[in-house]
Amino acid sequence: MERRRFVLLVAQTWVMGVVGTFALRSATASQEPGMTEDRIRVYSVTAGGYIEVERMLLSEDAWRQRLTPEQYRILREEGTERAFTGALLDNKEQGVYRCAGCGNDLYLSEHKYDSGSGWPSFYQAVAPENVSTRVDRRLFMARNELLCSRCDGHLGHVFADGPPPTGQRHCINSGALTFQPL
Ligand SMILES: [Zn+2]
Repeated sequence: MERRRFVLLVAQTWVMGVVGTFALRSATASQEPGMTEDRIRVYSVTAGGYIEVERMLLSEDAWRQRLTPEQYRILREEGTERAFTGALLDNKEQGVYRCAGCGNDLYLSEHKYDSGSGWPSFYQAVAPENVSTRVDRRLFMARNELLCSRCDGHLGHVFADGPPPTGQRHCINSGALTFQPL
């Protein structure tokens, strides 16, 4: 009898522990909507090195609340702003361009150049890890779409007609970016 009670107690304690762990995990998750345990390594300009961040994967409703209609159209619906209309096209200040969706550092002013295309252009990202690419087959041609690696927001496209040293042209919508002077 004593032994049975002991086994029951152990079993009960184990179950409570498992339930408690799950409850704690879901409570933590609900405090930070959209934050996941999927972590990535990106370069942080302010930290001066690589940091680990949670990927930011929100529902479309949450993105709508967080972004302006123009930011939403570009970042979440792969929209493109009209050429020569973007607020950051002629910006020549020193600083860092961040993702308007999640704040991930994307581009540095020292890598910005005038491509004549009508969109802010950079010959490289802050670090290769901070952006990702996928093939975009719309408009009847294959182009390499650029995405923010933290929130999967659409930024623009990358082409192979950029200046040295990379030969790349990262053609980015102003509306996908915020600018932080440094
Ligand atoms: Zn982002």
